[in-house]
Amino acid sequence: MSKILEEVLAANQSYAGSFGAKSDLALPPARRFAILTCMDARLDPAKYAGLSEGDAHVIRNAGGRATDDAIRSLVISHKLLGTLEWFVVHHTNCGMELFADEVIADLLDDDLGTASFDGKAWSNPHHRGGHAAGHFIKWQTIGDQDESVALDVRRIREHPLVPKSIPIYGYIYDVRTGRLEEVKAASEAGRVAASAA
Ligand SMILES: [Zn+2]
Repeated sequence: MSKILEEVLAANQSYAGSFGAKSDLALPPARRFAILTCMDARLDPAKYAGLSEGDAHVIRNAGGRATDDAIRSLVISHKLLGTLEWFVVHHTNCGMELFADEVIADLLDDDLGTASFDGKAWSNPHHRGGHAAGHFIKWQTIGDQDESVALDVRRIREHPLVPKSIPIYGYIYDVRTGRLEEVKAASEAGRVAASAA
């Protein structure tokens, strides 16, 4: 068994051992909100936003981007599970700022193994052959965090399946301080129109 697999199963055994009243949690999130955020390992939404099991939906992907699939989850989150407020949280020092679509596509075309980054450019340690499929994916890279949060909030706000009554807040998590900083233009774009309140 891999070391990681062993560690995860041991941790789970201890978690389940003191599961207690969590077995009675309801399916819909008790605090009726959702967070869309990046998969970055340094971000722990349960900690930075004070969540316990059962409190809120957390939707994560590379960058915390408002992709079709993230929007699918948000629509379900409201329509079937009753969330009423949404957060989009990107963060400083995001890996999605470190490459462009053609960079990852070229790397994948050359080799599928993990590439290395020297602080400026990416390169493949091996060249065993990859695949061209990466050229057909939009990777949702980030040029500017403020812009990406505002753009994603706007995309969600303007989606035809998202009710105008849901406020969408835009924030950037600072990986050096643990603080959430509001992106005013994003929260502005995500605010509830007076007629929908
Ligand atoms: Zn990130």
